Amino acid sequence: MSGQVFWAPQAWLDGRWQAEVLMQADARGHWTSFTVGRPAPEGVERLAGPVLPSLVDAHSHAFQRAFAGLAERRKAGEDDFWSWRDRMYGLALKVTPAQLRAIAAQLYVELLKGGYTQVCEFHYLQHREDGSAYPDDELALSWALADAADEAGLGLTMLPVLYAHAGFAQAALRPDQRRFATDAAWVWRAAQRLNAAGRPLLNAGVALHSLRAAHAPDIRALQALVGETALPIHIHISEQLQEVRDSLAATGRRPMQYLCDEFAPDARWHLVHATHSEPAEIAAVARAGAGVVICPGTEANLGDGLADLPGWLGAGVPLSLGSDSHVTRGWIEELRWLEYGQRLGLRQRNVAADPRGGQPSSAARLFEASLAGSAAPAGLTSWGLAPGARADFLVLDTRASGLLGVPQPALLDALVFASQGQALRDVYVAGRVRLRQGRHAGEEAIADRFAAVMAELSTGA
Ligand code: ZN
Repeated sequence: MSGQVFWAPQAWLDGRWQAEVLMQADARGHWTSFTVGRPAPEGVERLAGPVLPSLVDAHSHAFQRAFAGLAERRKAGEDDFWSWRDRMYGLALKVTPAQLRAIAAQLYVELLKGGYTQVCEFHYLQHREDGSAYPDDELALSWALADAADEAGLGLTMLPVLYAHAGFAQAALRPDQRRFATDAAWVWRAAQRLNAAGRPLLNAGVALHSLRAAHAPDIRALQALVGETALPIHIHISEQLQEVRDSLAATGRRPMQYLCDEFAPDARWHLVHATHSEPAEIAAVARAGAGVVICPGTEANLGDGLADLPGWLGAGVPLSLGSDSHVTRGWIEELRWLEYGQRLGLRQRNVAADPRGGQPSSAARLFEASLAGSAAPAGLTSWGLAPGARADFLVLDTRASGLLGVPQPALLDALVFASQGQALRDVYVAGRVRLRQGRHAGEEAIADRFAAVMAELSTGA
């Protein structure tokens, strides 16, 4: 096969809709060229609707998909992030590699349906239930995720996580964190093996669970191993006010200030959540060149708080989206939540829009920011409808109820703020179709396996 040629009636190129677009990819499934204003030649694949680039889901804990919807009842006393986490650990303590594979395959098909074609797994569930290493291969749970991504057919960036302490002031992990225990050498070894596996849609970076779970010597040790390599480095930060208070008590500084002062993060760094920030922290992160990964659905579900979206956008910090705990599994809903949180908090409309900067559409500004921020957290050099990027894209269904009759300039606005259900028709990864009319070829079998695992987990089998 020498490559592929697609023709789209419209495509989102260079930040706007353009008509009659010929899109060429090479045999590896990477874009080579785009030509605008060309009627469809004979023999090309004519796409059935307007084409959007897909996005990267920059923050996922796949196993938590099996917990989505099961923590929505309040028990005695307060229900907050920390009580949710204790209950989530109950699941983390029992998932096996085979179960994780089934859970992740279901999730990854759902992420394709949600318009993501690459997922970054912030993966900290590493060891057997008793905390010992898997005897045949210490990466058994990582390979389970890689196999699931293969089956679904989306790209996977594995981020093995350094997880060494229960809190800022605690030397050890809690007994119920025993499956997570790693050090810098373990994480580095895992990343190297994953990158050397030679799977075309798999790559790896590294992660630090948080400043609670990775102390200064751990961070410096991992930085020394990563050296000047281009691997992305992810860290949870400032998700919870308690974490900010603990950081102030332990270091005298707020988390992002401490990180920027002590560890010189750069454009390889991706700060997940970054919910509780002060302007000086945003300025420090902007100077460092690091990115921020916002997970609006999970942050709402867990009662984390609202990120300072105007502050991050205004400072020009690269943004990406994550589905994190997977109560939400599509970027349309995440962008809607991201904007609506700000509208509710500020009692204004179109908070993300920037009419003076030439962008009056909140949906377009957030989509463009997420698109521009997609490559780096995944450790990829390019992303989107651009020569050199992988030929991933989405085909919209203009017969979907929320898009019916919508004038073309408003299609993205209507998609984000007024579409119900399935408006993404076809999904392609590396030039190959993964969803046709919203369906994945393996989805029935994958769903059956997932349902069986949910039953096993609920009965403790
Ligand atoms: Zn997370």
